[in-house]
Amino acid sequence: YELLRNTVLEQGRVLDGDVLKVDSFLNHQLDVRVLNAIGKLFYQQFGELKIDKILTAEVSGIAIAAIAAQYFQVPVVFAKKTLSKNLDPDTWEGSVYSYTKQQTYQIRVAKRYLGKGEKILILDDFLANGQAIKGMHQIVKESEAVLMGTGVVIEKSFQPGKEMLREKGIHVHSLIKVTSLEKEQIQLGQ
Ligand code: 5GP
Repeated sequence: YELLRNTVLEQGRVLDGDVLKVDSFLNHQLDVRVLNAIGKLFYQQFGELKIDKILTAEVSGIAIAAIAAQYFQVPVVFAKKTLSKNLDPDTWEGSVYSYTKQQTYQIRVAKRYLGKGEKILILDDFLANGQAIKGMHQIVKESEAVLMGTGVVIEKSFQPGKEMLREKGIHVHSLIKVTSLEKEQIQLGQ
């Protein structure tokens, strides 16, 4: 936990007031030592749940989900953001509203990789407005899989996502809580 916390504090940079850039270890360059610590922390939290599969979203969720999956010994399936020939036409869909682009897009998982009764853990890098998590929950619901838990690496507690999801009955466990990015200072909670 200390490694993750210190890495966020030392390498995180504040952009446009409310965006935390972590591309030196999580979003562009990948620091596998830090990713491994993240994987272990997720396993500590969710390891007893006997999940069948981890669900995440491309691109930035994949690295953390894959490393976490080594501890859980389960497959990872990632929701895709674009339609391509590589994706079966038969998909479960969730909608995600992007505040930055001011538009809604669909995320999709092929039906063959997510099905009724499968026990699912959702993992992602950030919780900000909660749209990505909401979209993945929609996919799990549609597929009639069973949601066992939801975890994110970094929650931006000053943004409305956590509360919005809570009102929908969705609890999100976060490894790191960023309580403020004001004055370009990264403030972390407990
Ligand atoms: P949402 O607003 O739906 O909770 O977050 C959507 C996605 O935007 C997250 O999965 C994450 O990839 C990205 N995101 C949101 N806020 C931040 C941020 O402060 N820093 C970075 N690097 N990504 C973010």
